[in-house]
Amino acid sequence: MEEFQKVYIQKMGSRIEALISAQQRLSSNFEESAISIRRLAHTLRGSGATYGFPEISKLAAATEDALDEALSQTLSHLIEHLQTLFEAQRPDRERILVVDDSEEILLMLSVILSKQGYSVSTAETAQIGMDLLASEEFDLMILDLVLPDIDGRNFLIKLREEHKTASLPVMVLSAKNSPQIKAECFALGADDYFEKPLDPILLTTRVAVTLQRSRTLVKQTRFDNLTNLPNRAAFNEAFEAQSNLARRKGFSLCLAMLDIDQFKKINDDHGHLVGDEVLRYTAELIRDQLRQSDFVARWGGEEFTVLMPSTTLHDAKTAILKALEHLNQNPMLTSTGASISVTFSGGVHKFNPGEDLNQSLSHTDLLLYRAKSAGRNCIMTSDDELEIRLQKILIAEDDDLTAEFILHRLRKDGFELDHFTRGDVALEAARKQRYDLAIFDVKMPGMEGFELLQRTRSDSLNKDTPIIMLTSMGSEQDISKGLRLGANDYVLKPFSPMELMARIRRLLK
Ligand code: GH3
Ligand code: MG
Ligand code: MG
Repeated sequence: MEEFQKVYIQKMGSRIEALISAQQRLSSNFEESAISIRRLAHTLRGSGATYGFPEISKLAAATEDALDEALSQTLSHLIEHLQTLFEAQRPDRERILVVDDSEEILLMLSVILSKQGYSVSTAETAQIGMDLLASEEFDLMILDLVLPDIDGRNFLIKLREEHKTASLPVMVLSAKNSPQIKAECFALGADDYFEKPLDPILLTTRVAVTLQRSRTLVKQTRFDNLTNLPNRAAFNEAFEAQSNLARRKGFSLCLAMLDIDQFKKINDDHGHLVGDEVLRYTAELIRDQLRQSDFVARWGGEEFTVLMPSTTLHDAKTAILKALEHLNQNPMLTSTGASISVTFSGGVHKFNPGEDLNQSLSHTDLLLYRAKSAGRNCIMTSDDELEIRLQKILIAEDDDLTAEFILHRLRKDGFELDHFTRGDVALEAARKQRYDLAIFDVKMPGMEGFELLQRTRSDSLNKDTPIIMLTSMGSEQDISKGLRLGANDYVLKPFSPMELMARIRRLLK
């Protein structure tokens, strides 16, 4: 097979998943699923022929053109064919580690399992086994109970205690025909148990079943079932592994956080089902546009996170921008025939070896907010940050509900905020640095808002800073007092977020 054909087939995994999940939804939601299926079939019909797979093209055409009642059947043929091609091309053979002190057993298992297409590693002692487990990835382990250096049961306990191997499927081999030991092994976390002499056919079947079960489990716990992307838990694990690698080897690692713009409005205008479809569409498009080695996950809601190993900040931004442009040029077509323009905003951050996951994420998240406040449908990186200094707002408000309300709204728009619940403490802050805007409540402990206003104005750092006074309904005389003392505007409580934002924007211009 030509190299470009191999790449085409390797990329087929997500398509197959999408087709299978659409097929499963046929019974609950025929209309929408049929449209997804026909859309996917349509692209396969074209690309199959282009890449020199006439059979894909033929089966995809039959699916696209199938009558409703024959759709599921023709789709099954298509999926089967794609799976056969995909399986044959799958680069990642499952890896099995066999730990046994008998050379004969190691040789026998290597031969039998390699024949089945598995990649097999062997270890004669528990220590060698542990070293291999620490440095490589395995999908299954076959463990002899009697080892020269450690009792297999103790090894099992160690495995279950280690984060990396806690859920590794382990099949125990034993010469001891004792129900008690067998029960003990299961209790310690063994997934299967064999007595010697081994029956090769039974063994290979049970290896296949165990691997299959573990794949299903991984699928259920590590993937998001709406978009088929890895979920937050899987992302956290990938981050752990990639950040360690970046630290050890000095690789450049980038992290992106993408959030669909005005998604609430898409839901409101078209309904949640279409919203879901938009999520699937966007997820697939992002996954498709990025490299295979980039790890794309659904972080939650309409937010996606991406890990980009061995990628510079510049290249990471370029790649995400390319996906965004592609999305801009390809609006999503709904089952009702509507065309929906979807965009996202994104923050891209270069991982710093001193950071942990939370720190990396909050940097990335901040950049995302800046992209939102810069007008959405754009990408911000820490390089851009130097150019656009964040606007900083000082807030003095002792009522925690009002404060939380203002903070939430302003944070969302990418402002940097300093909040104080006492007037005198706010004044101290205002004496130390310049703010782009200040919002003062009138009644506050420590110092009242009017005095705070007067003193801020008489100080050189913030004498020109726009100041908004928050005035309570019923004390309208405060308005004129505030304006006389140098306030630029006032907002009457209770206020709407829209009103507050409009006033802030006007003053910041
Ligand atoms: P912004 O541009 O500032 O990001 O605005 P937004 O509307 O995209 O952001 P907001 O956080 O206000 O709204 C996100 C919406 O996404 C709210 C929530 O109901 C919706 N949502 C979250 N998860 C799902 C989902 O799985 N399916 C659907 N249909 N909607 C979802
Ligand atoms: Mg959003
Ligand atoms: Mg959001």
